[in-house]
Amino acid sequence: MPTYVFECESCEEIWEESLPYEDRDMPVEVGCVATAPCSGSVRRVPVMPGFAYDNIPSPGHPKKTPDWMTDRLKDIKKNQPGATMTIPG
Ligand SMILES: [Zn+2]
Repeated sequence: MPTYVFECESCEEIWEESLPYEDRDMPVEVGCVATAPCSGSVRRVPVMPGFAYDNIPSPGHPKKTPDWMTDRLKDIKKNQPGATMTIPG
């Protein structure tokens, strides 16, 4: 069963659920599952294949690049002057 990531737009709670494809929007209808559930609207977060959401602390925000990732990219760039990757943030 695929794992889907959901985010509450109000309290920014992020969680994962393994759901059959046909039920993938079910948590959107069920609503916030935070420890103290709010009435914010829930959206399904598009997940890139292979992207590890486990590395994002919860509550967090998937749009922000974590500091450790930026540092890591800077390190790689420093060690490989030819690297053409862009450092986000
Ligand atoms: Zn919430």
